[in-house]
Amino acid sequence: MNVIPICRLCSAPGGRLVSEEVSGAPESRVYRCAECGIVFLHPIMDPGEERAFYERDFPSYMEERHAPGGADPASHFQAHRPEAERRLALVRDLLSPGMAALDIGSATGYFLDVIRPYVRSVTGVEPGEEFAGYARTRGITTVSSLADLPGASFDLVFLFYVLEHMRDPVDFLTQVRRVIRPGGLLVLEVPNVEDALASLYDLPAFRRFYYQRAHYYYFSPQTLVAVLQRAGYIPKVQPVQRYDLSNHMWWMMAGRPGGKGKFCHVFSDDLERAYADCLKTHWKCDTVLALAEVPRGV
Ligand SMILES: [Zn+2]
Repeated sequence: MNVIPICRLCSAPGGRLVSEEVSGAPESRVYRCAECGIVFLHPIMDPGEERAFYERDFPSYMEERHAPGGADPASHFQAHRPEAERRLALVRDLLSPGMAALDIGSATGYFLDVIRPYVRSVTGVEPGEEFAGYARTRGITTVSSLADLPGASFDLVFLFYVLEHMRDPVDFLTQVRRVIRPGGLLVLEVPNVEDALASLYDLPAFRRFYYQRAHYYYFSPQTLVAVLQRAGYIPKVQPVQRYDLSNHMWWMMAGRPGGKGKFCHVFSDDLERAYADCLKTHWKCDTVLALAEVPRGV
């Protein structure tokens, strides 16, 4: 009963089964398109289920996924401080005092809060009303959707861990492009489907966790570049490794997340750096960062 579905990105038939198990969606499978190479979930939530999921179930889902913080906005903001600092280190060189910056999927505004001193203005897009309300109490302008920004023209737009949730990534990226000025930049991060835990080590426990109902697409550097080009950008990708050696060993030992830092009293910074560099060199790292320019004169 394994009929390979038609690819939602390029409409090509054929492909191969990547995973029979999807966290939170027992009826779904993951496939890789034979034509464009995209790894995709099928079937995905219908629009009604999707709305209910993001409006009602998202905080508990994030907790299941081992995200820090929890649903309370103030604790979410505090718990995401290290992640905000990690992102700042990645993008610090791109920021300058004249820039208007937009973060899509801005949650409680934790990332915009740390870049605020380096740019002219910050704006967030966040559909979750409680998180958006909290960001506003911290003085961060936050709207609920891109449609609330008609005629806007930002220098820099951020999209961290959003694209993999989208039903139609090319259409979504095209809408995002319309709020970026010519010559402006989209900065985005997605999980890398070539992550060593899922590819090199091929850990069944990790794959059962990794493939999940909210991620409709799993990008590689190549497929991410392809969707950005289709949406009219000029992209460049960089490898990023977020998780450390302890986390990887913990997955192998215990088959679950939560190992980050566990053995850091033994592992040196040099060892961690060397391990991350090996993974990045071979694109077996966990994250792809893309800098995608909006062409001038289009
Ligand atoms: Zn395809």
